[in-house]
Amino acid sequence: MPAQLSPMEISPEFSATSAFAHVAQNGAVHVEKVNPTHEDIGSGRVMTDDVFDESYREKKGPKPATVYVWRNIILMFLLHVSAVYALWLIPATHILTLVWAMLCFILSGLGITAGAHRLWSHRSYKATLPLRIFLAVINSMAFQNDIYEWARDHRGHHKFSETDADPHNASRGFFFSHIGWLLVRKHPDVIEKGKKLDLSDLEADKVVMFQRRYYKLSLLIMCFFVPSIVPWYFWGESLYNSFFIAAILRYALILNATWLVNSAAHMYGNRPYDRNINPRENHFVVFGALGEGFHNYHHTFPFDYSTSEFGLKWNFTTAFIDLMCYLGLASDPKRVAKETILARKMRTGDGSQKTG
Ligand SMILES: [Zn+2]
Ligand SMILES: [Zn+2]
Repeated sequence: MPAQLSPMEISPEFSATSAFAHVAQNGAVHVEKVNPTHEDIGSGRVMTDDVFDESYREKKGPKPATVYVWRNIILMFLLHVSAVYALWLIPATHILTLVWAMLCFILSGLGITAGAHRLWSHRSYKATLPLRIFLAVINSMAFQNDIYEWARDHRGHHKFSETDADPHNASRGFFFSHIGWLLVRKHPDVIEKGKKLDLSDLEADKVVMFQRRYYKLSLLIMCFFVPSIVPWYFWGESLYNSFFIAAILRYALILNATWLVNSAAHMYGNRPYDRNINPRENHFVVFGALGEGFHNYHHTFPFDYSTSEFGLKWNFTTAFIDLMCYLGLASDPKRVAKETILARKMRTGDGSQKTG
């Protein structure tokens, strides 16, 4: 089970959800009480529901029976068969279509990593309205449930990691934590505990709620229509090729890249920050998931905007957020002080100083 954060790492003020907190370069947490405006609600919220809850206990007795969701099983099967078929179309596809598919992969990835994950699930930095709109649009391109649902599941994943209340509980094996959790009914504890999570910041964010309201339409446009139509309109690609390459294959790849964070990065790699938890540092996942594979660090310090000790290194999402800060579209990226990281490594790490 994950060890709790020491007082050095998290101050008592961290639980004050009415306050705005900033983690300074030296690791100190400054909290100022302010009356947030409507726009500010959430953007400066102090996250507490992404910290592991040691008080939760799994219910004793036999586990509930697995109930398959056949609609999802069939859709996921068709998606993956179609994605494999799409590989055969690559030699006959225009080079610009392949570049476009790669761009769509990166954009939809950022919609998850910089958007649903680091901004909306963990509140690890603040984003202006134009950036939040952009992130919500590219989040729809990733089609991984709307931001509200994604962030709720993800906060539950951190708070109840590797237990019955974790939506993709990795203790149920690689397949379950990778894709299986989407093919069966949720464990009752996931639903029960998910309802108790504080999502008021998401409910106060008009961008999040607008995307949720029009999610089906937005995913049809962003995940399938736009990726298919651009190559056809601008360089005469066949709609057939652009649909299978830029929509289907790209969608299957970004899904699996994201899922690897839940599966591989919870099983393979070392644990320099906390040897008592399952999440690990996995370089393969770091590369595929735009910087999200430093997972032992991330579960130890979930509020760090870089999800890594090493800042920009191998971390495309961190580079994107830094660029947004430079352009004035984002602010207040939270970091953990070097001394705090070192102290934590000494206290609970597995002794491996290097990641990978
Ligand atoms: Zn995780
Ligand atoms: Zn996270």
